[in-house]
Amino acid sequence: MSSDADADLAPPTADAAPPDADPVLAVDGLRVRYDDTVALDGVDLAVVDGEFVAVVGPSGCGKSTLLRVLSGLEAEFGGRVTVDGTDVRDGGSDAVGMVFQEPRLLDWADVRENVAVGLPADVDPDTEAARERVDDLIETVGLDGFAESRPGELSGGMAQRVALARGLAYDPSVLLLDEPFSALDRLTKADQQDHLLDVWAERGTTVVLVTHDVEEAVYLADRVAVLGGQPGTVESVVDVDIDRPRDRADADLVALRREVTAALGR
Ligand code: ADP
Repeated sequence: MSSDADADLAPPTADAAPPDADPVLAVDGLRVRYDDTVALDGVDLAVVDGEFVAVVGPSGCGKSTLLRVLSGLEAEFGGRVTVDGTDVRDGGSDAVGMVFQEPRLLDWADVRENVAVGLPADVDPDTEAARERVDDLIETVGLDGFAESRPGELSGGMAQRVALARGLAYDPSVLLLDEPFSALDRLTKADQQDHLLDVWAERGTTVVLVTHDVEEAVYLADRVAVLGGQPGTVESVVDVDIDRPRDRADADLVALRREVTAALGR
C-alpha cells in the first residue's frame, strides 16, 4: 500500500516497471497470436506489492486477452508472465483472484456458500476455521447479516460485493477485476468504487483493474496503463500521484483524466 513513507522509498514513476521493488506481477515482452491476428505484442507491465493498477484501452486492443493470460486461461503466448516469480503456466495463475463484470453467483446457494466457492481447494469449507474466514470476508465487504441470503435477494451492488469476497477468499497475491462495476448504475458504481478502496486499504491486496472507464481508472488507481495499437501494447503509463481520499472533481484528477483520454486517442 502506498503510504507517504513508502512513497519516499519508492517514488512513483511513469515507467511501466517501477524500480526498487520485486514485482508481484511481471509481464515481460508478452505476445499473443490468434491465427492471423497478433492480439498483443511487446506488452511490459510490472505491478508491485499492494499497488493498484488500472488497465484501460479501446475495444479490440487486447484487454480480454491480457486477462486470459494472467488468469491462466491462455497458455499459448510468447514472453514471460509471472506472479510471485512463478510463470502463470506453471501455477502462477493460481495466486490470481478474479472478479468479473457479472457477479456469476450460484443462485441456489446463499452468500456464505458463494464466498466459500473461492476458498483454496485444500480448505474444507465445513471447518470452523474456514467458516470464520468466510464470515470475516462477508464482514469485510460490508454484508454482515446477509450470510444466509440468496443472490435473488441482493441488489446488484451487493451481489458484486459477494463476488469480491469470493475473489479474496483464496487470499490471492493479485486480485484481477474485469470491468467489475460497468453493469451498475452511476450512484451504486460510485459507492462500490469507494467500497473497493476501503477493502484494498484494509487488506493491502495488489489489484489490477481492467476498465474502459477513464474516470474510474484515474479515481481508483496508483497508475493507469493505457493499452492501444494493433497489435495491442502498453502505449503509456500515467501516474496518479494524488493522495486518497480523492475528490472526483479535483482539478489535478480531472487533468490526469484528460491525459489518459488523450493517450487513448479519444
Ligand atoms: P479487448 O478485450 O480489448 O476488446 P480482445 O483481447 O478481445 O480485446 O481482442 C484483441 C484482438 O484479438 C482483436 O483483434 C480480436 O479480434 C482478436 N481476438 C481475440 N480473441 C480471438 C480469438 N479467439 N480468435 C481470433 N482472434 C481473436
